[in-house]
Amino acid sequence: MLVLLERGTSESVASEIATRLRMAGLSVHRTDHQGQVRLGALGDGAVVDWGEVGRWAGVESVAKIPAPFKLASRSFQPHDTIISVGRCAIGTAQLALMAGPCSVEGEEQVFRIAAAVAEAGATIMRGGAYKPRTSPYSFQGLGEEGLKLLRRAADAHGLAVVSEVMDSPLVPLVARYADILQVGARNMQNFALLREVGRAEKPVLLKRGLAATIEEWLMSAEHVISHGNAQVILCERGIRTFETYTRNTLDLTAIPVVKELSHLPVIVDPSHGTGLRDKVAPMARAAIAAGADGLMIEVHHDPDHALSDGPQSLYPEQYAALVEQIRTIAAVLGRRV
Ligand code: PEP
Ligand code: MN
Repeated sequence: MLVLLERGTSESVASEIATRLRMAGLSVHRTDHQGQVRLGALGDGAVVDWGEVGRWAGVESVAKIPAPFKLASRSFQPHDTIISVGRCAIGTAQLALMAGPCSVEGEEQVFRIAAAVAEAGATIMRGGAYKPRTSPYSFQGLGEEGLKLLRRAADAHGLAVVSEVMDSPLVPLVARYADILQVGARNMQNFALLREVGRAEKPVLLKRGLAATIEEWLMSAEHVISHGNAQVILCERGIRTFETYTRNTLDLTAIPVVKELSHLPVIVDPSHGTGLRDKVAPMARAAIAAGADGLMIEVHHDPDHALSDGPQSLYPEQYAALVEQIRTIAAVLGRRV
């Protein structure tokens, strides 16, 4: 239920209302909007007399939150969530540009790519140290060593770091090095992992599952938020369809659909979304035009020898040229790089 408090309600009354709801066995989440406190009271509401709650001092009204993803929904929080990471405020007019290699492969590689993407205008560096690979014989990532390299390379160029965490016990380790914890497409419904990142104090980049509906994706975000971490960034990265000319089908319709349903920022990954280097730039431009809050793009200086996802990685010069185009498109929409 959404419990709206009267404007001007004192902090002590607001916290007393929250405590009374908690004592009824509900979990209570708070968001403030235009000077008004909004409480999301979740759990078995059947035992609560909501008519009575509506008459409590300080309560203006009580209403159902219609969507199944309660805390991720606009009815709970009408205003956009803003997530500050390094020099970027994700979910504002400033676009979040995340770029880097698919995998961290070694010192020279990450330092070269960090320099290139920083120079082009990216503010967040990506790079996988723990890689979810279809084949157990493919490169699985450098693990903690990779995270250390990524952190050093990013720091040398004033970039924040996003990296994937594949397994719940590894959340504290990845959180030591990364500014954003990436939950990969294959793990979108790994509920133990969602719970662990929900307890972490770092923002979470939640990729859409390979065959996930928008509602399932938002329900996964709900898992993270309900465990206490409201800093969730959604990432559309393409879904599996009957089409075979591209690696995935990048669902750009998801951007305006999610924007209406949810207050969470949405970014787009056209690298995994297409799987094809020459299709990345057009889809990146389209994503920004459609209202995405940012882009995650794979960049490699020597993609022919990359240990993963070379065919979809942009050369640094291609990435720099794309950022210039994004700058122009952003300006038309009142946004900026
Ligand atoms: C990645 O970002 O390198 C990755 C593995 O992405 P996804 O989970 O979207 O496949
Ligand atoms: Mn990849």
